[in-house]
Amino acid sequence: MKQNNENFSQIIPQWYLTQGRNGLPWRKKISPYRVWISEIMLQQTQVKTVIPFFNKFIKKFPNLKSISKASEDEILALWSGLGFYRRAKNIYKTKEIIKSEFKNRFPKKFEELILLPGIGRSTAGAIMSIAYNKPYPILDANVKRVISRYKNINLEQKDAIKSLWSLSDIYTPSENVFEYTQGIMDLGATICHLRSPMCSECPLNLSCESAFKEFDVNKRNKRQKLTKRINFTLAHSNQSFLLFKKNEQSFWESLWIPYDNQYQDFDRIFKEPRKTKIQNLFHPLSHIDLEITVKIFDYDKPFNIDTNLEHQWINKSQINDFGLPKPIKAIIDTYV
Ligand code: SF4
Repeated sequence: MKQNNENFSQIIPQWYLTQGRNGLPWRKKISPYRVWISEIMLQQTQVKTVIPFFNKFIKKFPNLKSISKASEDEILALWSGLGFYRRAKNIYKTKEIIKSEFKNRFPKKFEELILLPGIGRSTAGAIMSIAYNKPYPILDANVKRVISRYKNINLEQKDAIKSLWSLSDIYTPSENVFEYTQGIMDLGATICHLRSPMCSECPLNLSCESAFKEFDVNKRNKRQKLTKRINFTLAHSNQSFLLFKKNEQSFWESLWIPYDNQYQDFDRIFKEPRKTKIQNLFHPLSHIDLEITVKIFDYDKPFNIDTNLEHQWINKSQINDFGLPKPIKAIIDTYV
């Protein structure tokens, strides 16, 4: 066992130095702020999707000072299209806490990090190990997969997660923790794939208890997703669109969307339009598929409306300053 731990903890940093993904944008100019933003973006999203969003975000907000005055809408606008918008809301809340309780300096202690919105044990561990080079374990999806295979732990078994945290803690070395943490993430992402792990190229293949085994991962993927139908009404006039801020705690929370026809004040808001067009869309989310019908109402000019719903006429030229769901933004982008 000890021999294996030493192997595992030493092999991974060595492998990282020659085979790791050193070119990723958040691995340059390392700072706690940049590690935090990248780790939040990487929760539930693949690296290749995150890269352009990270670059855009960092261009606008390169550090804590620059983000300190940002509104929630500005942060959500940069998140448009990345999905799981709760993460952007948590970035807003966290930077507000850092400003008010930490004099706008990034917290340095694990115990402080883990109390911040959106930062769980693994994200706090990643910030501690990558930004501060301190030996804290992580357990993201890639690391879970590598360690569970390495020790042949069935993820369905009771206490599997507890065992994996304990192993992750044991394997995290006291030296070279920066290289180790990034290395184990990279090994999971580039070699120990969910389907068809590339065991012949894996530096752990001599001691891994699952090396060259066949993995049946189809069972979990057969789960059927639910479909939700949504009917929107989108008022349009002179390149401006009437949008409403979604305040319910569900997908797209806090984003700007067209009028949802399930709200109660349709007749008070919409007058007879000059022209009507209907657009149907299918938009899959991770847990649910959306079938969306958008009725687009054209008017000669924008009008005031009588409603308690938070709303705004937004000109097309300013649409990128607001957080909009990807399919809604796509409709507006193509609408002339
Ligand atoms: S040997 Fe194969 S199963 Fe084991 S960690 Fe490496 S890639 Fe994964």
